[in-house]
Amino acid sequence: MKKVAKVIIDSSPDLQLDYLVPDALADSLELGSSVVVPCGRRFADGYVVGFSDKSRFPNLKEIKSISNSRPLLSACHIELARWMASYYCSPLGKVIQTMLPAAVRRSDKGHREQLAVRLVENWADIAASVKPTEKQQQIVDFLKTEGESLLSVLMDKTGVTSAPVKTLQRKGIVEIFTQQVGRNPSDNKTVLPSKPLDLMPEQADSLKLILEAMNEGNRTILLHGVTGSGKTEVYMQAIAEVRRLGRTAIVLVPEIALTPQTVWRFKARFGDRIAVLHSHLSEGERHDEWHRLNDGEADIVIGARSAVFAPVKKLGLIVVDEEHEHSYKQEDMPRYNARDIAVMRGHMEGCPVVLGSATPALESWHNARMGKYLLSSLTKRVDDKKMPAIRILDMRREAEAQGRPSVFSKDLIEAIRSRIERAEQTILFLNRRGFATSLTCPQCGFTAMCENCSVSLTYHRSDESLRCHICGSTRKVLNRCPSCNDPQFKYSGIGTQRIESIMGKLFPHARVQRMDSDMTTAKNSHDRILGAFRAGKIDIMIGTQMIAKGLHFPNVTLVGVIYADLSLHMPDFRASERTFQLIAQVAGRAGRGEQMGEVIVQTYTPHHTAIQSARELDYDGFCDQELEFRKELLYPPFSHLMCITLRCPSESKVSFCASALARELKKAFLNSAIISEAVPAPLSKAKSNYRYQVMLRAKSASKIASTVTKVMNSFNLPPKVQVSVDMDALSLL
Ligand code: ADP
Ligand code: ZN
Repeated sequence: MKKVAKVIIDSSPDLQLDYLVPDALADSLELGSSVVVPCGRRFADGYVVGFSDKSRFPNLKEIKSISNSRPLLSACHIELARWMASYYCSPLGKVIQTMLPAAVRRSDKGHREQLAVRLVENWADIAASVKPTEKQQQIVDFLKTEGESLLSVLMDKTGVTSAPVKTLQRKGIVEIFTQQVGRNPSDNKTVLPSKPLDLMPEQADSLKLILEAMNEGNRTILLHGVTGSGKTEVYMQAIAEVRRLGRTAIVLVPEIALTPQTVWRFKARFGDRIAVLHSHLSEGERHDEWHRLNDGEADIVIGARSAVFAPVKKLGLIVVDEEHEHSYKQEDMPRYNARDIAVMRGHMEGCPVVLGSATPALESWHNARMGKYLLSSLTKRVDDKKMPAIRILDMRREAEAQGRPSVFSKDLIEAIRSRIERAEQTILFLNRRGFATSLTCPQCGFTAMCENCSVSLTYHRSDESLRCHICGSTRKVLNRCPSCNDPQFKYSGIGTQRIESIMGKLFPHARVQRMDSDMTTAKNSHDRILGAFRAGKIDIMIGTQMIAKGLHFPNVTLVGVIYADLSLHMPDFRASERTFQLIAQVAGRAGRGEQMGEVIVQTYTPHHTAIQSARELDYDGFCDQELEFRKELLYPPFSHLMCITLRCPSESKVSFCASALARELKKAFLNSAIISEAVPAPLSKAKSNYRYQVMLRAKSASKIASTVTKVMNSFNLPPKVQVSVDMDALSLL
């Protein structure tokens, strides 16, 4: 009975209120409908998340109207949202907000012109002289990464009101303009159509398995295929079949892999039936692509994490490419993993889900072994192209031979030189995340640290500054050591900038380009660099994680991993897995063309299992050993792990609360979960907040979620202590 509707209020997602359904609306109102309701003395937007025939509350108000002609969310979305809310211990309203792009939530369909904000050209000069407030700085930082943004979205994402934006406009730092909402991101590009290729035998087997699963309804298939084995061709042919059946498909790729190259491959096959959803689109483009899907004008979506919520009807297939990627995990509430949501959505909508990777996450591999997922393997590269030869170089020996530690081994330098001579390309990879390239005093060992966060500051040569990668604060490089006054105080550590400058000195005539997250924030510069690399205008590309994934450059014959140990020494039980994956993935960038590829891995721990298995590209062998270790300690995939983090400016307060919480949890779980003591997080201070953690492990995820929710609801936190709950946590910092 649709007498009473349960409505989530968009502007305060923690609220769920009951409203009477007026007779006039009873027929058209559906689960997921967006509605306008009276709330306090005003009207508010909301979403219908449930119906019942009565309410516990007296004097209910009536729903005023339905705000869009179609529901924005389907009944299936609401069901999925409810599951997410309980699994990830998040308010239902927060989940619903996550499912809808801000540009869609905040605008009616007919409303195609909205206010937008961007930084003026010389904003930095002006900002330097006026000293922005904290709020204003937040806006500037947001615009620095986003390029430009709808005003409504900016307010939504940064939590500021329009007042500081207007102040910035008055000061001449930003400009406010009207933006047309509604463009197709590839309108003016022509794409040459492509035909399905004749499949190799292994590809044909995989496709057959997927098509069979389609007949059965919901199955999850793990497609374990080495880099360059033609997984994408399998996805596309499966999707062609989905379309023949009049159904729709979702293809998820990590944000990083969402280059025009990937999108074009799909456009070439499916034309304008493709919609694209990712963060490099303008808000207007995102709004439009979303509505094309919702209106059935497009039936295949390719997108990053949040595309798993795409409003397609009659879903026939979900593909998650590079399923092991950590970028599928959202690091804000709700802290969902899009891969796991894909599996759940497939289950709810009764369609198959394909998880593809050359190095599947151990969780997925384990599920395949236990028979929960079907397994299909592509063991060969297309046309039997050889996998690259991988050499491990022991940097301890190198240091002995050269008499001092060095960034580059002789062998790697020679290998690069020979590539330059043959006009072939090189990728140099540095896995730097979590490790600052710090400024350290050679005399007393003093390291420049951020005052707000417990990390060392990163040196940026381009503007001689020191920056904190956690809170973003910046200061000028010091000339002398503040501790011992030594003038030798200088940059140590290895960063991509240092590698770039060494390369410049060794090979003055080579064209060297760096690509990392610090410099690819401006819209399209990422694509521009990759385009130049593909066109052969760059000899040596230096980069971080960003260049490890999914890219396909036939002329790259050498990949160098500068310091493979960086990811091994992270305080994280997944350190080995990450290291194995990274080496195997970067190795996949070499030798994709006619020439055989070579990979050189420099390391100080050459005998580590992760590095030795990566050398052989022995995924199975690595998993066997690693699963053994995980099983012994009851780590995932043999348990679910939840990481609860408490933050507060006062260390004594946060440590006290964390210990009290750990005690409460132990009482509530008795012996049904392994619960850690409350300890300072590896990143023990960030943005002036001390951070403490409590870790829980148990077999049953739903048991963890429900018990933790119960404990949290009755646990009184002092006002300044914030807490975040991360189910199936991937980042343990
Ligand atoms: P993966 O996604 O497994 O890394 P890709 O799908 O990118 O591999 O395939 C690598 C290359 O091989 C692409 O250029 C693709 O067009 C080509 N390819 C894929 N399948 C075939 C096939 N059956 N015959 C010929 N070429 C193919
Ligand atoms: Zn900081």
